[in-house]
Amino acid sequence: MKISHIEHIGIAVKSLDEAVPFYENILGLKCYAIEEVTDQRVKTAFFRVGDTKIELLESTDPEGPIGKFIENKGPGIHHIAYAVEDVNDSLTELEQNGVRLIDKTGRKGAEGLNIGFLHPKSTLGVLTEVCGKE
Ligand code: ZN
Repeated sequence: MKISHIEHIGIAVKSLDEAVPFYENILGLKCYAIEEVTDQRVKTAFFRVGDTKIELLESTDPEGPIGKFIENKGPGIHHIAYAVEDVNDSLTELEQNGVRLIDKTGRKGAEGLNIGFLHPKSTLGVLTEVCGKE
C-alpha cells in the first residue's frame, strides 16, 4: 500500500451553519462544496488546505455515526483519511496484516471517492480511512 498524502481530516461539528463561518471568516479558508452523504447520515462541507482537505461533518440523524460520536465525545477531530491508489487492494493488504476493518471493501463516499474505514481498535485509537479514485 502506498499513501501519497493526507486526503482529508474529518471533523465532527454540531452545526455547519455555525462551523463554516469560523473556517471562512476566522481561518480564511473557502468552503467549495457542501454535500449530503445519506449513506453515512451526514452533511459535509469541504475546504482545501494545500493537497489536504478539511471535511466538516454535521449529523443528519442522532443515531448515525457522527450523531453518536458527538453525543459521546463532543465535537472535534473524527478521522484521518489517507489517499491511496487502490482502496480495495489497500484494504486487502491491511487485513492480511491483521488490521480489523470496518469496511471489507470500498464504498462510495463524498466527492465520488471510493472509501474504506479501518477499526480504531486496530489503529491505536485513530479512526482511519483510506480513499482514492479506484
Ligand atoms: Zn472522510
